[in-house]
Amino acid sequence: MIFGALEAGGTKMVCALGREDGTILEQVSIPTTTPKETIPLVVKYFRGKEIGALGIGSFGPVDVNQSSDTYGHILDTPKTAWKYFDLVGSIQKELSIPIGLDTDVNGSCLGEMTFGNSKGLDSVIYITIGTGVGVGASINGKLLHGMLHPEAGHILLKKHPKDTFDGNCPYHGTCLEGMASGPAIEKRWGKKAVELKDNDIVWEIEAYYIAQALMNYILTLAPRRIILGGGVMHQMQLFPLIRKEVERLLNGYLNTKEIKDMDHYIIPASLNDNQGIMGCIQLAKIALDEVK
Ligand code: ADP
Ligand code: ZN
Repeated sequence: MIFGALEAGGTKMVCALGREDGTILEQVSIPTTTPKETIPLVVKYFRGKEIGALGIGSFGPVDVNQSSDTYGHILDTPKTAWKYFDLVGSIQKELSIPIGLDTDVNGSCLGEMTFGNSKGLDSVIYITIGTGVGVGASINGKLLHGMLHPEAGHILLKKHPKDTFDGNCPYHGTCLEGMASGPAIEKRWGKKAVELKDNDIVWEIEAYYIAQALMNYILTLAPRRIILGGGVMHQMQLFPLIRKEVERLLNGYLNTKEIKDMDHYIIPASLNDNQGIMGCIQLAKIALDEVK
């Protein structure tokens, strides 16, 4: 059985074919412009490929509640062309196959839990620090939804004493995304994150914010493992800084075996930036199993 996988991002749509074991057979990238232009290209890619089901990991906010009237629609996004667009319906109409949907970050979380570094764990969170900051979570073996889905990239933070940057989130200024995303780093320092590798204060401040967020997620969601992915997390020097800062913040309050083994508790994504698309393969498989 071949599955279709679609990682629907704000700048590009990654379309792929894969097998149940997570093998990616082929993959193409289509620019995300307007639904009118982009969706026919996505449909054209999958048509005739004899896929059994399609899994979509979408940018948000997106309605992932299967019993909702607007299930599968993009919601109130600043990407105006996509506002309230029926993403799942518009593809379903053309392809007539089972479609599974979740957020891009829940998809990445599922990818790591199915094929990557968190196999066999029931409660895991996945955080992407890239153009934006997003958090996916699977708690007790279920991807976390509620009235919507978590938007935990926008939590509030205490400011680093040496940081004079006011943040760049249009809604909250100094939330996590406003302080720690790739664009926030670039705006604060006037250079791209990748060019700041040897500047220690950059990563001290970055780790300070990420660790605060992790502390809050640890205390509220009780994950057994935390995976950090996205472009900014390619700066591997962040990992020891974040672990140390999380320990400092927790201040001995939690003494679980997981927390005592920080090097295996807070870890990088393990699937070479394919965790998202591989998660979509699994979403497709689940969608097919549900109709069987
Ligand atoms: P997206 O979030 O758009 O899906 P990425 O996860 O690749 O894509 O994130 C892009 C952001 O990550 C950009 O702001 C970029 O500057 C930053 N970035 C990409 N690669 C690196 C790197 N090696 N080191 C630090 N920052 C990076
Ligand atoms: Zn925000």
